[in-house]
Amino acid sequence: MAIVQALPPTADGRRRLGLSSPAHGGAVGEIAVSTPQDVTAAVAAARAAQREWATRSPRERAAILRGAIEILIARQDEVVETIRAETGKPRIEALTIEVLPSCDFLNYWSARAPKDLADKKERLHGYLRPMKKLLMHYRPLGVVGVITPWNAPFVLSMNPVVQALLAGNAVLLKPSEVTPHAGAWVVRILHEAGVPEEVLQLVHGDGETGAALVAADVDKISFTGSVATGKKIAQACARRLIPCTLELGGKDAMIVCADADVERAAEGAVYLSMFNSGQVCLSVERIYVVDSVADEFIRLVQEKARSLTYGAEGKDVGPLFWDRQLDIVTRQVEDAKSRGATLLVGGGSETASGLFFAPTVAVDVTHDMELMREETFGPVAAIARVADEEEAIRLANDSPYGLGGSVFTKDKAKAVRIAKRLDTGSVVHNDAAVIYGVPEAPFGGRKLSGLGQVNGRDALRGFTHAQPILLDRWQLSTERNWYPYTEKSVRTIEATLKYGFGTALARRLMR
Ligand code: NAD
Repeated sequence: MAIVQALPPTADGRRRLGLSSPAHGGAVGEIAVSTPQDVTAAVAAARAAQREWATRSPRERAAILRGAIEILIARQDEVVETIRAETGKPRIEALTIEVLPSCDFLNYWSARAPKDLADKKERLHGYLRPMKKLLMHYRPLGVVGVITPWNAPFVLSMNPVVQALLAGNAVLLKPSEVTPHAGAWVVRILHEAGVPEEVLQLVHGDGETGAALVAADVDKISFTGSVATGKKIAQACARRLIPCTLELGGKDAMIVCADADVERAAEGAVYLSMFNSGQVCLSVERIYVVDSVADEFIRLVQEKARSLTYGAEGKDVGPLFWDRQLDIVTRQVEDAKSRGATLLVGGGSETASGLFFAPTVAVDVTHDMELMREETFGPVAAIARVADEEEAIRLANDSPYGLGGSVFTKDKAKAVRIAKRLDTGSVVHNDAAVIYGVPEAPFGGRKLSGLGQVNGRDALRGFTHAQPILLDRWQLSTERNWYPYTEKSVRTIEATLKYGFGTALARRLMR
């Protein structure tokens, strides 16, 4: 069952893509693919419109975006319906993963914007202080391209779009070709809230449209997606010398320590590896459990996973969203089986009605299996026993990815000690994946998992150029380092060195 299929072109020659539901295979809409010419024209219109948008104060922009919350709440059923049509995810997941955090992001970033984006006076140090004043000004970059994936198509589009708009930029959003209408809702809601049409535009299509957007006259790319595409985008941005943030794939490890609350760890292991059908960049993809609690942990995981329902009548685990994904998960599980893994629960697919893969628990997994090395993005809890926490840390770090990680222990200090040794962008204690929903926390991957960070206290400024404006305060009658060079100027500089930095007290005063 192909989720995205080519249809005959439109009357004016544009490619058309038809979409099917991963839950039942029926048609759920189509898109006309934006051509490179469409993208170029949209960027030009965005650039013209951005000038007026940037003249509005951050407070004014924030008021518009805050207004989107009420619209989103009023239209949540339509949004959820579209997300579900394109992904088949359970209603509760559309609400908890997409709608609720979108409201929180809109609310949080619009509250921060007036303060974070206002001009800021910076106190200068030492001998500069009497002479100069520093004013920091945060200039919008111009036009930002936002390219997003299909696994959480609404929130992963809403969050960067809102940040870029608040910072005074115009935005072109290209949602995934698998979930284009879910992405389109972000644009519709923000337009209804009052964001001018040309300040926020939608371009539809697949990689070809995405590549055209990166090659167009944009000033930054905010990308969320796979490592392979991320590398292409980094190269294209390097050619144009424009910045990009790359939020890429993961293979997150969960460490279950000997002193963990085993019941919570087992419940967490099942939920955190299987919610959204395991298609979350921060999903738990590898579980390392210390031997002394492994039997009990595995027994509980098995029991809880077995109780989950999926398939046409199921309510817990939805389908995989893309046929390509079903192939990857099936291949990895088969490969693991052939290399000695034991499947305690699930392991197969049920595709009579949709792209369903059974909630699966695998044990005896090792690092020579793709299941433990490559991103799976499926409802699979892969569990390896380890002798102790040292071995867990070593294996957790033995990965080309470094997005997130989690540590289950009753000892907070130990959680912090272990966290500091994990080569990951973030670590969560007794939970996982939630970090993206904590806007105060800078979010981004290490190693292959990405470049740069989104969220965090500097997030809005990340969509600006921080422009220092150095103001004159007081001047010497003649600048000692300007022309003409004289013996007197050399002596003045020597005296500055001697009296400014020659003693500990002077150095302290100069800081
Ligand atoms: P993908 O890389 O195939 O596609 C992502 C987006 O890029 C889509 O809109 C696609 O059309 C576009 N695209 C494809 N080729 C392009 C090109 N050459 N130039 C420009 N754009 C192009 O990824 P996907 O399969 O849609 O998403 C799944 C991946 O996203 C997983 O690896 C997942 O871990 C990752 N992801 C990461 C995060 C994070 O925040 N780190 C969050 C969610 C998903």
